[in-house]
Amino acid sequence: MTEIKNRFNFIQQAIHEAAKQSGRAPDSIRLLAVSKTWPADKLRQMAVLGQACFGENYLQEALEKIEALADLELEWHFIGPIQSNKTRDIAAHFDWAQSIDRFKIARRLDQQRTDEQAPLNICIQVNIDNEDSKSGVNADEVLSLAEQIVQLDKLQLRGLMVIPSRQTDEAAQRASFRRAHHLFQQLQHQYPQVDTLSMGMTADLSAAIAEGSTMVRIGTALFGQRDTSQRQ
Ligand SMILES: *Cc1c(COP(=O)(O)O)cnc(C)c1O
Repeated sequence: MTEIKNRFNFIQQAIHEAAKQSGRAPDSIRLLAVSKTWPADKLRQMAVLGQACFGENYLQEALEKIEALADLELEWHFIGPIQSNKTRDIAAHFDWAQSIDRFKIARRLDQQRTDEQAPLNICIQVNIDNEDSKSGVNADEVLSLAEQIVQLDKLQLRGLMVIPSRQTDEAAQRASFRRAHHLFQQLQHQYPQVDTLSMGMTADLSAAIAEGSTMVRIGTALFGQRDTSQRQ
């Protein structure tokens, strides 16, 4: 418990510092705890410390944790690739889907979200560095996808989710994030409800905050190194 508490405090401090250095209010940046591969009891420990938002990439694993932690008031974000056969469970059990890169998936989520539920919060995933291997739409496709998504009643467009190419140099990291922020501002100009720029992970958290991130998605720095032996 103390280890998890130390990590949690450390990240909150890092967010605070990065915000202050850029002249931003620390509470304008939300922390999403990325909990893929970690068991439900680890998430529970973090929830006790005050963390309410969790991000998951793998549906089956996520559904088990959502059920195991149903007694807590948590907010669940789906951040992994979404195929058609996953939309029903995502629409039923999640509060956010951040990895939308096709209208077909958005339409299915809209159809499968029930009237009793609050709208599903949506981020469009952007492939900001135009990498061949990466999912996400290219920057020049964001506005047209947004225009389609805002027509759907059971979805609420909240912003962009960005995963830049791997760069260790801070200036290079910031250049990608800056382009993402510019795109975010264009989107916000068209759709005032847009308030979320989800960018920044363990390795590039401060660069993302310096360039206007409103939500950092942190896994390794919060939970430790993931065991990837069972998964690619
Ligand atoms: C795994 C993952 C993260 C967290 O990455 P860390 O480097 O462990 O902080 C953030 N965003 C997405 C989309 C991920 O898949």
